[in-house]
Amino acid sequence: MSLELEKSDLADPEFVTVRAALRRGEDLLSQFGVASPRLDAEVLLGHALNCRREDLYRGLEGVLTHEVRDRFVALLGRRRRGEPVAYITGEREFWSLAFFVTPQVLVPRPETELLVEVALRIPARQVSLARILEIGTGSGAIAVSLATQRADAEIWATDLSAAALEVARVNARRHGVEKRIRFLQGDLFAPLREWDLGFFDLMICNPPYVPSGEIEHLASEIRQWEPRLALDGGVDGLDFYRRILGDAHRYLSGAGFLVLEIGGDSGTQVSRLVEAAGTFRAPAIYRDYGGRERVVVAERLP
Ligand code: SAM
Ligand code: GLN
Repeated sequence: MSLELEKSDLADPEFVTVRAALRRGEDLLSQFGVASPRLDAEVLLGHALNCRREDLYRGLEGVLTHEVRDRFVALLGRRRRGEPVAYITGEREFWSLAFFVTPQVLVPRPETELLVEVALRIPARQVSLARILEIGTGSGAIAVSLATQRADAEIWATDLSAAALEVARVNARRHGVEKRIRFLQGDLFAPLREWDLGFFDLMICNPPYVPSGEIEHLASEIRQWEPRLALDGGVDGLDFYRRILGDAHRYLSGAGFLVLEIGGDSGTQVSRLVEAAGTFRAPAIYRDYGGRERVVVAERLP
């Protein structure tokens, strides 16, 4: 079967109303093994019509113009070639906020919201969360979400990728927190300065943690489209934890907290690395809603 939609698909009377276009779009996507064909068809038709997905259901019998049909068919074609929906629409929701995304950034994952949630639950009597450092901010999803929740927080967000930081800046402006987030380009702690030692109450990071050899086994949607820089965690997937744990305590304040996303139930391994660093209390591990170990939290030893 050709990846391109046929001209006859365009003329297909089944594309005429919203209801029919959704059904046809769903069929076309499921023929290509897309995992959530209905949802994707809805999001893409919503994008073609410039309306929210929920709004489609208020006008199911509405007739689509040729222009909208052409646009929808083109979007379906991209999806059938494996492009993630978020890159096609340029948007993904995280923490109930709409984030701009491009192929230069990892598409923020719902399980990463747990990182934000856990950070916000750190009791104020323990640490104020006035100064936060995010390493590897990507789209800025974590930093921007935290900034919207803590009006008193100032955030420093780094990334090795200058292109990712451009996307993160757009998101900070979009959500009105650009004055409280400073974006710094460079390798992990490299963009920080001497005077940042002991400065941060909270350090938060969703590092690349896929073992290099497993990248080729990831779903093609991830492997072929998302930045390798955002995924590759070295031979055992733990390179970034080792590097971060080597320096984190130097930049954290007295009883500052380190909050890390982890993958593949690597809680035990990452906890061992935290303990081996000798600069943190025994860490806590939190599971995501799928029941998988997802977040490690460690408090710096004073
Ligand atoms: N924080 C975003 C999120 O949770 O959706 C993105 C996380 S993504 C897994 C990891 C991020 O770390 C990517 O944006 C990548 O560019 C960045 N990164 C990779 N290596 C880095 C390094 N050596 N120093 C700083 N950032 C790095
Ligand atoms: N959660 C990502 C995945 O779906 C991996 C992101 C990361 O390495 N932090 O594979």
